[in-house]
Amino acid sequence: MICPNCSGKNNQSANFCHYCGYAFSEEERQASYNETVYGKIDKARKAADIVTLKVITDSIWFRILSIAVILALGIWLRMGGVHGFRLESSDDYEIQYLEETDTYYLIAEEEEVPLRFVLPYGTKRIKVRELDEDEDVVSTENYDPDEGFTLSVSGTNHYRLSTSNGKKTTGSIQLYLYQEED
Ligand SMILES: [Zn+2]
Repeated sequence: MICPNCSGKNNQSANFCHYCGYAFSEEERQASYNETVYGKIDKARKAADIVTLKVITDSIWFRILSIAVILALGIWLRMGGVHGFRLESSDDYEIQYLEETDTYYLIAEEEEVPLRFVLPYGTKRIKVRELDEDEDVVSTENYDPDEGFTLSVSGTNHYRLSTSNGKKTTGSIQLYLYQEED
């Protein structure tokens, strides 16, 4: 703290100025403390104490809101809200996933790869398009989600898969397949 008498710089906890011996008053010491990081944290903590957790949890609106949030979350989870369309790991392949483009790179043991998916809620159909290097569609197939299917490693082509609930597209991923070299 700064001495008001001689302007000397003193330790935060000083009772007296060690240059001129001036005795700091309680108010001066408190004001100086309030300017420190610790003093600011203390002040913020006191302000936060005014709105205590008890006041919040006792509020009827908080309780109504809590129940509403829990109910909404339950419904959302049951509708498959957490998982979109994604590939599941399997012994038949190794997965590399690039999140930015929702693209999977699979290193498969065999040329025909049985795929395992997590499907969005209410999936009625999986559409599989095979594309060449120029993103031109080579072939299109539709699969029943209960059937399961295999895709084959086919040179430089890749696949784009999308799920539909019968009305609209619910998810899509890109897939590059490679066969493991012995
Ligand atoms: Zn002084």
